[in-house]
Amino acid sequence: MMIVDSLFLIALSNATLNIEIRQPVDEHKATEIVEWIESTADSLKLVYGRFPNPDAKIIVIPSTENSWGSESAVIFGRVTRRGGETVELFVNPDRPIEEFYADWTATHEFSHLMLPLLNQRYRWISEGFASYYQNVLMSRAGHYSPEHAWQRLIEGLDRGRESRPELSLNEAAASGTRYARMKVYWSGAAVALLADSELRRRSGGEESLDTVLGQLQACCLPAKRQWSGRRLFGKLDSFLDTPVFMPLYREYANAEGFPDFAPRLLELGINRNKDGTVSLSDNASLAATRKAISDSR
Ligand SMILES: [Zn+2]
Repeated sequence: MMIVDSLFLIALSNATLNIEIRQPVDEHKATEIVEWIESTADSLKLVYGRFPNPDAKIIVIPSTENSWGSESAVIFGRVTRRGGETVELFVNPDRPIEEFYADWTATHEFSHLMLPLLNQRYRWISEGFASYYQNVLMSRAGHYSPEHAWQRLIEGLDRGRESRPELSLNEAAASGTRYARMKVYWSGAAVALLADSELRRRSGGEESLDTVLGQLQACCLPAKRQWSGRRLFGKLDSFLDTPVFMPLYREYANAEGFPDFAPRLLELGINRNKDGTVSLSDNASLAATRKAISDSR
């Protein structure tokens, strides 16, 4: 690890992360934060074996004044794409490092790098896929139990289903996250779950959302231009003998309501308890698929 003021260069197996820690963060916490970023970025290889961008920049911005009204260690994150992909993480450096490892925000932001920038109208795909992976990757990496990951995913899907049911997914994203935030963040997660579980089911685990995103990275990322949702789903289908993504697009993108995820949860052996918790059943028809999606490795 090379230190130049607050610049850190971290070599992952296939990528170099350029990490800038803005001041004020003391040296000890800066080192801890860099180790946490390395660990989180490294967890992306649990999708397709490598980090999606071989040359990504990460900027950590301390925000102790709590002007965001958040108690979290990681207050907010975003990806900017001018002059290369940069992940910005606004953090509270006063929080203990354990809370950083328990926080999903950085996993969500890194997951965004697995897709090209999409036009506003298709942001339900960007946010949804990142919201899906933030949960399954936190579980694969051992920071969540599988039960906790599925519970969080289901809570998100429920919020999404209740949000602006009169809008289609494309309309919700076009109108902006301020008006349909939960629909934008979670409808695409439902589509990701349906696509991932269907690919795994029909291929006996040979194909998955992981494998097609790996093929997308190999051909097309990091992308210079914005893509449409149709172009993305068409490209993902081009890696498959039988399409999965455009059929889901045609069924849901311009329809009001929300993708119907409940039957698939039962097949995966994900049961809701009366108290809101989740229990997992190994007797369900797709229990092995569920484990392949979420269990730690
Ligand atoms: Zn996001």
